Amino acid sequence: MEQFDYIVVGAGSAGCVLASRLSEDSNKRILLLEAGPRDTHLWIHVPLGYGKLFTRSEVNWGYESEPEPNLGERRIFTPRGKVLGGSSSINGLVYMRGQREDYDGWGIPGWDFDALLPYFRRSENQCRGADAWHGVGGPLEVGDLERHELCDAFIDSAAALGIPRNPDFNGAAMEGTGYYQATVRRGRRSSAATGYLRRAEQRPNLKVEVNTLVTRIDFDGRKAVGVSTVKGSFKCRREVILCGGTFNSPQLLQLSGVGPGPLLQRLGVPLVAELPVGEGLQDHFYARTFWRCRKPLTVNDEMASLWRQARMGLQYLLFSTGPLSVAAGYAAAFVRTRPEIKRPDAQIYFINFSSAKRGGVLHAFSGFTCSVSQMQVGSRGSVQARSRDAREAPAIRYNYLATENDRRVMVDGLKIARRIPMTRPLRDYVVCEELPGERVQTDDELLAFVRENGETVFHPTSTCSMGKVVDPSLRVFGVENLRVIDASVMPSVPSGNINATVIAMAEKGADLVCGRA
Ligand SMILES: Cc1cc2nc3c(=O)[nH]c(=O)nc-3n(C[C@H](O)[C@H](O)[C@H](O)COP(=O)(O)OP(=O)(O)OC[C@H]3O[C@@H](n4cnc5c(N)ncnc54)[C@H](O)[C@@H]3O)c2cc1C
Repeated sequence: MEQFDYIVVGAGSAGCVLASRLSEDSNKRILLLEAGPRDTHLWIHVPLGYGKLFTRSEVNWGYESEPEPNLGERRIFTPRGKVLGGSSSINGLVYMRGQREDYDGWGIPGWDFDALLPYFRRSENQCRGADAWHGVGGPLEVGDLERHELCDAFIDSAAALGIPRNPDFNGAAMEGTGYYQATVRRGRRSSAATGYLRRAEQRPNLKVEVNTLVTRIDFDGRKAVGVSTVKGSFKCRREVILCGGTFNSPQLLQLSGVGPGPLLQRLGVPLVAELPVGEGLQDHFYARTFWRCRKPLTVNDEMASLWRQARMGLQYLLFSTGPLSVAAGYAAAFVRTRPEIKRPDAQIYFINFSSAKRGGVLHAFSGFTCSVSQMQVGSRGSVQARSRDAREAPAIRYNYLATENDRRVMVDGLKIARRIPMTRPLRDYVVCEELPGERVQTDDELLAFVRENGETVFHPTSTCSMGKVVDPSLRVFGVENLRVIDASVMPSVPSGNINATVIAMAEKGADLVCGRA
């Protein structure tokens, strides 16, 4: 049987970084196992194509949560990448890093903001050049988005409300309004696969196996020695590194005997180590408002006519510009929902299209979306394997809106998200608010709206938390030769979008594995 030094499970945002950095040492043999296929799907590489991948089961796990108790027992659809690049191949491309206080607040030695900043910089190829916050020459492309009349109007309206202009949300401070930066270059998505894996795959000491679901970690006593997969087993001399993401890493640990005792007993899995694996799930909750637009400037308008669609396609093919080169997040405002709060606690997204269902058909009218998500979350849920079959989706319980503050921030954030389009100059483009509509006004009505319509904004974390399941070197407590390196190890969800953080953490994780940190 072929022997490897390291087996990396999952070729997502973190897994591609690990496979790439570990294989830089030609003396190490690395095996990267991915449940999904290669990232050949055309829409992966076109930013606006992200909407087309929302429910595509060939590249997406397409989970459904359990009925949510605070959302009228609604199940929340939960896309996750199942393809080289993982969720970074199907995400919305927004490039954000969180706030200093998020990392300092984790209280884990070696994981405060100053310790992570060199890894953000190392991973990055910033189109604006290097400075104290940003790096150039890294594998992840970070680019600017083309300006747009409606986005300019959104930013001017937010500024008119007293929200400061901020040209760089990832610089000295996140607060303010401006354009997002995106993981994009020349109109093409920069995923962990295109950024990190492509070059690394040329190395003879890295083997990548796609369509290979890992079903169990194999232990010799308490020492991880390899993995079982749908295609057979693989052995390793040094470590198994789990990069399966916030839902699949805990599921795989549980199926392998590492998890809460009562759950493992129920599943009939022999206990290897009793740990709170799967507990503590966090995510950013999200609510959208739609607006009818007076001028035909939105992507809805582009999609409404074949001629405009053709023009949009041609513009993209010839110049890599136009609507196809931008995903959902275009402009934003990071705001404090109350003046006495010390840092922004709500993120307002401006999206230049609207649709009843995300990833669904765009509205026939000219429309845009203004949405809100909470940034520092109190609610916690769980992820639990349902059966011993790794092919069966785990039970996901987000438990959104479980705390008073989570509910308040969503209501207050929604008020700000509605106020911006009602302020000039964006006001001049508005025909009316389509959703929630004028009849929703009081705090109780807004909260009811959030409960009935709120969704995930796709940032689940914290199911294999540092301090609880893994130590600060990301080694799983109570066993040997096993680490988890992905979004699941974050003690709490950082403010804003989290792909850049997962990648920076994986950069540091690679240094830890190699004994460099
Ligand atoms: C629709 C969507 C939009 C998003 N938008 C943004 C955004 O705009 N900006 C941003 O910063 N973040 C965004 N995110 C979040 C961000 O992309 C993720 O947080 C990040 O990619 C997670 O990285 P990860 O390495 O933890 O997991 P993933 O990237 O999900 O990787 C896990 C990988 O492991 C594989 N895997 C799992 N189990 C097994 C197994 N048993 N055997 C083999 N392989 C396995 C999976 O198939 C997957 O490829 C979005 C996410 C989604 C889903």
